[in-house]
Parts: sequence; structure tokens; C-alpha cells
Amino acid sequence: MKPDRYAVVGNPIGHSLSPRIHALFAAQTNQSMIYEARLGRPGHFAEDVRDWFRTGLRGLNVTVPFKEEAFRLVERRTARAQSAGAVNTVWAEADGTLTGDNTDGTGFLRDLGIRLGLELADRKILILGAGGATRGLLEPLLGEAPARLVVANRTPERAVALVESFAQLAGTTRLESSGLDTIPDGPYDLLINATAAGLGEQGLKLPPGLLAETSLAYDLVYGSASRPFLDWARRQGAGRVTDGLGMLVEQAAESFAAWRGVRPDTTPVLRELRETLATA
Ligand code: NAP
Repeated sequence: MKPDRYAVVGNPIGHSLSPRIHALFAAQTNQSMIYEARLGRPGHFAEDVRDWFRTGLRGLNVTVPFKEEAFRLVERRTARAQSAGAVNTVWAEADGTLTGDNTDGTGFLRDLGIRLGLELADRKILILGAGGATRGLLEPLLGEAPARLVVANRTPERAVALVESFAQLAGTTRLESSGLDTIPDGPYDLLINATAAGLGEQGLKLPPGLLAETSLAYDLVYGSASRPFLDWARRQGAGRVTDGLGMLVEQAAESFAAWRGVRPDTTPVLRELRETLATA
């Protein structure tokens, strides 16, 4: 029997680690599948995706810049895709209906909870950025009932709008927005960099006092791209810092489980990717 086909689509896509991650998951769980990277064509995304599924694709991951377009394309959405307003995982139901899911927020929470052992109830959280990644994190984070959650963005109006659209999910959490230069006083237990900028000349300018020995600083980007932010966080006194590689592996495991019905062990896969990145 031919192996089942899966893919990730993005633009650019050359450096995606997803084919490697899913190959490791498939080997570990004895799944007969092929997973490849496909370069998305701006302006032809919907047509290409429908064509791929018509010709036998079983599942698709979607990355930058197509997650919102994938959200509009699918005919059915999971609750977490609906709240994120973006889709990173697609599959076809038995009747051909394309269903969209978003595994980023769950992947982030699993990395925080299982690998890093951080409980969020009653904690203070600061998220930098008000784009698609932050939108995907807000519902899962609010579900953990932190005491305070601040969304700070270069363009403060975008943070205001985002916070307003999640106000009904805030529960007991004090959910606030700010500009990057008006961030309410720290220290924060968790500081998440969900901007597309690092620290440096063109990057973020942040006030002091946001971090302490008890803080965890988490950059959603991984590898060398996260170094300026994580170095800054260490200099500011953060007790722990991490890049987004754990989240990347966990969101991939969520997609894999949705497609194949088995949950891979992420620990050896993360270890292997770390070794690969360290020697690259
Ligand atoms: P996005 O929707 O394009 O949003 C970008 C955000 O970055 C906006 O808030 C923007 O602020 C801010 N920004 C950009 N340049 C800036 C600068 N020079 N100074 C200050 N702020 C700046 O992007 P996204 O989809 O949210 O993704 C954000 C990051 O998360 C990306 O690097 C992405 O690769 C990463 N990510 C990682 C994972 C993972 O699995 N590890 C998953 C999802 C995303 P304005 O509103 O002011 O423009």
C-alpha cells in the first residue's frame, strides 16, 4: 500500500523543520506516511490546496503567510481555530469536507506545562505583539486563569482591539493592552515575545523592570533568531529563558495526533532537533 501523503505549505518554506519533525514522529509510531514541504503561491493558495486534497493529500500544515487564508478556505473549523482566527492544520473528512484546526496555542501550553512546568493560575503574563500568534495564544492563556495578562504592541491600537475582542473570555483575569513604552510595572512571571522583531537597532525598545529571578522569558521564534531577545532577558534578570522550538514540536504533535490518532513522544524529537540546530 502507498504511504499517506501530508505536507506543509508556506512562503518561504525552504527552512521549515516540519518535514523532519513529522518524519521522526512517523518512524517512532510506525505510521506509513510521507510529509513534504510545498512552496505556496500567493494568489493561488485556495486553488492549490483544493487541488492537492482532490489528488489524495491527507493533511496539510499551513505556515506564514497563509494561516488566515486557510481559515477562510476551510468549510468547517474547530473551536480553537475559530477563536484564533487562523488555521495551521487541515484535513479532509470522509465526505471531502475540509476541516481547519489551530494547534499553536495548545502546543504552546503543552510546552509550558509539561516541559517547563510553569503553572499560570494567578500569575502575571506579558505578551509583546498583537498579531496572529498572540491572537492564537489568548484563549488558551485566559483558560489558565492568570491574575493579569497584558498585551503590549508597537501599534497600541492593535493591542486595544485584540484585547477588546477577547474581553468576554477574561473571567477573573485582568486583561489589559498597552504600547511598548507604557507597559504596566513588572516583574512578570511569564514574558512572551510574539513579535516578528528581535532586540537591537531596528528591534524592540523595552523599559527595565519587566523581569526578575522568578520570571520565564519565552521567544516564539527559535534557534539563533531568538538569541538577541533571550540575551536581553538574561541581562534583565530573568531566571529562565527559552526559544520556541518546544512549541514548534508540540504544535506538530497536536497536528499529528489529529491526523493519525496517535500521540508521538516529543522529548526525543526535541532533543534531536536541538542537536541539529547546535551543529548547524
Ligand atoms: P504578525 O501577525 O505579522 O504580527 C507581527 C507582530 O510583530 C505585530 O504585533 C507587530 O507590531 C510586531 N512587530 C513587527 N516588527 C516590529 C518591530 N520592529 N518592533 C516592534 N514590534 C514589531 O506575526 P505573527 O504571526 O503574530 O508571528 C509572530 C512571531 O511568532 C513570528 O516570528 C512567528 O514566526 C512566530 N511564531 C512561532 C510559532 C512556533 O511554533 N514557535 C508559532 C507561530 C508564530 P505592529 O502591530 O505594530 O506592526
